[in-house]
Amino acid sequence: MASFTLHGISVSRGIAIGRAHLLKAAALEVKHYLIEQDQMEAEVARLQNAIHTVHKELQAIWSDLPKDAPAELGAFIDVHVLILSDPMLSEVPLNIIRNRYYNAEWALVTQIDELSAQFDEVEDPYLRERKVDIQQVGERVLKVLTGTATELPPIKSGEEKVAHMIVVAHDISPADMLQFRDRSFAGFVTDVGGQNSHTAIVARSLDIPAAVGMFNASALISQDDWVIIDGDAGVVIVDPAPQVLEQYRERQARQIRDRKKLGKLKKTPAVTIDGTPIMLMANIELPEDCAAALDAGASGVGLFRSEFLFMGRTGYHNKLPTEDEQFESYRKAVVNMKGRPVTIRTLDTGADKPLDMAEQTALNPALGLRAIRYCLAEPQMFLMQLRAILRASAFGPIRLLIPMLSHAVEIDQTLQMIAQAKTQLRTANKKFDEAIEIGAMIEIPAAALTLPLFIKRLDFLSIGTNDLIQYTLAIDRVDHEVAHLYNPLHPAILYLLSSTIKMGAKYGVPVAVCGEMAGDTRLTRLLLGMGLREFSMHPSRLLPVKQEVLNSDLRLLMPQTRKILRAIEPGAIAEGVERLAAL
Ligand code: PEP
Ligand code: MG
Repeated sequence: MASFTLHGISVSRGIAIGRAHLLKAAALEVKHYLIEQDQMEAEVARLQNAIHTVHKELQAIWSDLPKDAPAELGAFIDVHVLILSDPMLSEVPLNIIRNRYYNAEWALVTQIDELSAQFDEVEDPYLRERKVDIQQVGERVLKVLTGTATELPPIKSGEEKVAHMIVVAHDISPADMLQFRDRSFAGFVTDVGGQNSHTAIVARSLDIPAAVGMFNASALISQDDWVIIDGDAGVVIVDPAPQVLEQYRERQARQIRDRKKLGKLKKTPAVTIDGTPIMLMANIELPEDCAAALDAGASGVGLFRSEFLFMGRTGYHNKLPTEDEQFESYRKAVVNMKGRPVTIRTLDTGADKPLDMAEQTALNPALGLRAIRYCLAEPQMFLMQLRAILRASAFGPIRLLIPMLSHAVEIDQTLQMIAQAKTQLRTANKKFDEAIEIGAMIEIPAAALTLPLFIKRLDFLSIGTNDLIQYTLAIDRVDHEVAHLYNPLHPAILYLLSSTIKMGAKYGVPVAVCGEMAGDTRLTRLLLGMGLREFSMHPSRLLPVKQEVLNSDLRLLMPQTRKILRAIEPGAIAEGVERLAAL
């Protein structure tokens, strides 16, 4: 067969090479027939039994979860149990059997299709992807009904074959992923899924190359086909030509070597050649991410995006997390980090991160009631979060970080709210760190241009380059049609960055960068040359950035960076950055 290439979404890094192992979707194979009146209750009982069996299966998977299983896995299985218990799945199909005389499989598929169609109407992309959970639970019940459980090939002696197997499926449920985890499969390819899909999240936490959103890969790829997953590019090459296979094998070997080398840097202090110490911090979304942060040798958490505690809570009847629930998460993070500082950013909701229950009516949500603006408009909710964070500060070093500030009056109002939360805690006799540091995200050009307002009022600053670029260049960061204009090296961005770093240093207020630029090794030297001493990034970027720091000499970088900052033509800037790389 001729070689062909499929393009999907890159969700985890690395290259996997192996033979395809196809997982059949039960939903595609169900029989449709009408039953007789006298068979009805037996058919209902058949479906009830199947649902019961899946309940037991999920419980067994839960209790067998290995200790080192990614935390997300347990949570996903919980979600599946909730879905299975919901009357939409556990009762409606039974009524379809009773009312329409459908066989059990047909009744179940009918209801899953109906629920899926409802989810397709949902605007929020994160919520929309949750329809996959319903399909996966339905699939599990179908497999029990049809007696086609997900079977893996028997383990052969040596296991060589399995280790080089690539799982190709329409979709893979988190529960099924556990089996693959134990069998060290090389990678995953699925037809459905996006950046936030469970397959993607679990693949990332297992550090396995995966490509999702491949549309009809499971129909196009045959059992035992040779498959290359290029997880960095989100590309899958099927039946590659021998020379392509050879090239990828070389790239894979190089990546493995590089990773091993980087792994040795975990305990090496991040210090430049001229002896300047650099703080490398981690960005996290949930307290469980602290493990990855520590594993990468982070000096602390530079950005805990607390909004992730507030999102995806449909299973909780759309309730916001309570003060105690939040406190528990913040406390967990600071305890997990074992004395290292944890910077908790207050709720940054709105724009591309809406809360499930908050209706977005703004014409331009990125310019609307987002982040601190939303929090100041919802004072009770904000006070609750502030109390939860303050209470956690009794358990370790926490810094409070406020997103999207741009006006002096907003800073003052925020500081008043923090003071109010402290008073409430004192009255309630609850402990907290009285001297907790308060900082601002610098992510709106107006903030970067009026820095003295911030320096006067706050203890530290953290530049959110993702939004700073969006708002300076007027480029919606989630609109792919203008993605080509999203440029960190635009002279306006370089000016705002360097002036903020310089002014922070002048007045002794620490400045960090916590946007994606901080984890981009092509920009590490430029940021160091501007005077940046604190970087916060996804844990997976920490060691590559550390390597760059260890090879940098500020005495050489600073004069060359000054030249770049004087340039205005993109060609001259790009050339300057290349010269930095060669120093
Ligand atoms: C940023 O804007 O750069 C940032 C770090 O915050 P977020 O990406 O969560 O908006
Ligand atoms: Mg931001």
